[in-house]
Amino acid sequence: MRASVSSDPKGSLDRHTWIELNARAYRHNIGHFRKRIPSRTRICVAVKANAYGHGLREMVRISREFVGIDWFAVHTLQEAKEVQDTAPTHPVLILGYVPLRALHRAVRPGVRLTVWNPETVHALSSQAHVRGLLVPVHIKLETGTNRHGVHAEDITAFVRLIDALPGIKLEGLSTHYANIEDTTDYSYARHQTEILFGVRNQLHDMGHTDLMVHSACSAAALLFPATHLDMIRIGISAYGIWPSKETLVSASSLPGFEPLRPVLTWKARLSQVKSVPEGQFIGYGCTYRATRSTLLGIVPVGYSEGYPRHLSGRAHALFHGQRAPLRGRVCMNIIMVDLTDVPDAHIEAPITLIGHDGDERVTATDLAALCGTIPYEILARLSPAIPRIIT
Ligand SMILES: *Cc1c(COP(=O)(O)O)cnc(C)c1O
Repeated sequence: MRASVSSDPKGSLDRHTWIELNARAYRHNIGHFRKRIPSRTRICVAVKANAYGHGLREMVRISREFVGIDWFAVHTLQEAKEVQDTAPTHPVLILGYVPLRALHRAVRPGVRLTVWNPETVHALSSQAHVRGLLVPVHIKLETGTNRHGVHAEDITAFVRLIDALPGIKLEGLSTHYANIEDTTDYSYARHQTEILFGVRNQLHDMGHTDLMVHSACSAAALLFPATHLDMIRIGISAYGIWPSKETLVSASSLPGFEPLRPVLTWKARLSQVKSVPEGQFIGYGCTYRATRSTLLGIVPVGYSEGYPRHLSGRAHALFHGQRAPLRGRVCMNIIMVDLTDVPDAHIEAPITLIGHDGDERVTATDLAALCGTIPYEILARLSPAIPRIIT
């Protein structure tokens, strides 16, 4: 067993829990895409949901420091503002809905909206027009996911409307795949891409010859060069996590396969280490009874910090390069781990909840599997209150 790589990065010493963001891993992941896409294809990183739980401001700050990231995608107007506070010169694409009465605040240089309904287009136009500004918009095309989007048969009328209104300008055409992470059968994604290409040609004939066309999320960008187009919109893979097992399986058979590197590590400090005699119960509900004299570590994080309660009695944390099983239920702000078999447990020692320590690793994907969910959800629910430290 290799020695523990646990260390105390600057800024963590007075924290009971913290998230470390590995800027080099992030740079590696962005480089992974930069090498594989045409030079004209932009990279847009999705930083919605607090940058998938990593910390929006911190991830934008890291992004700003190296070339390779061209755009950011967010869900809300508030997130767009937060991006612009940190990276004022990067274009920001709002993917989500902005209520009609908030649209005046979306009229800001650098911000572009995704649109799919005439009400938004009308309201945005009048807000932009009175202020003498021109807001770029991207049409979300419905190709079979049936979330937001304009059906292909309604596109001509929608584009004519945008073209006729002052204050707005059609800049892009986008769609989003329904069935690309959950399968190794990509026929549905191909079908959606064909619809996108058909509409692209149609808009070309209407005079929109320099539209930005984009459809690729991580899985598409990793597996299908035909979807790279004018921009890729990558989220989970930029943070070093595979969108799914199926994506990893498909990608690992491609030539030049390279692993991604997780950016996020989540740690906490032991707040107590104590012996629990054999036969005693541990935690709420008395669900676990010590089967031996146990050295128990108390860790001051729980489900309110984003450690799912469903992991009760199932997951492991990492301590000194070894796996330490959870005992009893996950509480609101506390979990308990069995440290009987690991050396050197003492108060304030760092313990890893997500990340690696020596040769052992606990990934967001591992925790997701134990919870019956996807790594996106595990990451997105990490509390924004946890301090983020860039390493
Ligand atoms: C979140 C999101 C993405 C990024 O998806 P990943 O699977 O995380 O790469 C791309 N496009 C849209 C519309 C999204 O909402």
